[in-house]
Amino acid sequence: MSSLSHDHDHDHDDDHDHAHPHDHVHSSLSDMEVRVRALETLLTQKGYIDPAAIDRIIETYETEVGPHNGAQVVAKAWAEPEFKAWLLKDATAAIASLGFTGRQGEHMVALENTSDQHNMVVCTLCSCYPWPILGLPPVWYKSAAYRSRTVLEPRKVLADFGVTLPESTRIRVWDSTAELRYLVLPKRPDGTEHLSQAELASLVTRDAMIGTALV
Ligand code: FE
Repeated sequence: MSSLSHDHDHDHDDDHDHAHPHDHVHSSLSDMEVRVRALETLLTQKGYIDPAAIDRIIETYETEVGPHNGAQVVAKAWAEPEFKAWLLKDATAAIASLGFTGRQGEHMVALENTSDQHNMVVCTLCSCYPWPILGLPPVWYKSAAYRSRTVLEPRKVLADFGVTLPESTRIRVWDSTAELRYLVLPKRPDGTEHLSQAELASLVTRDAMIGTALV
């Protein structure tokens, strides 16, 4: 999606470019970018989309929304038992109380990692992802390899991410849908009792909230 955020002014020159293909080569654009722009131009001409609106949405998710939001949720849950209980019972409301709401976050479920169970999130169909708390999904999350292998052999996928869990820890894989998005609540590391919520939040990574990393 990020290729859509590149500037659109060149699109208006497309007729000229096609008339003189050798005068003005889009050497800096990949085939995919050219195709995305061509499609975007077509959809814009037909009135389906407003490029300025797309840019605003992507800019918001690239700059204002990101894993730092989810990290605040996790840190608060670690620090405040009542909030953690609320998060596990009604994640949508608990997360919304921190101001994190919006597209693809309407129905959230929080999954607590324990010594007994480690949770991993995938979208086997496409790339459903909790945008309001994690921003845009990483490239690997959308890959066919991650989407298929996580279900079949989660422990091997974790190993590929450098994570080794004891055999006694069960791994549970959760398949996101258009209706349900998941947030993994990682285990709070030992020796962090003295840390503030802000300091705790700084420890929490995006991958830990997807379940492909530990904190
Ligand atoms: Fe999906």
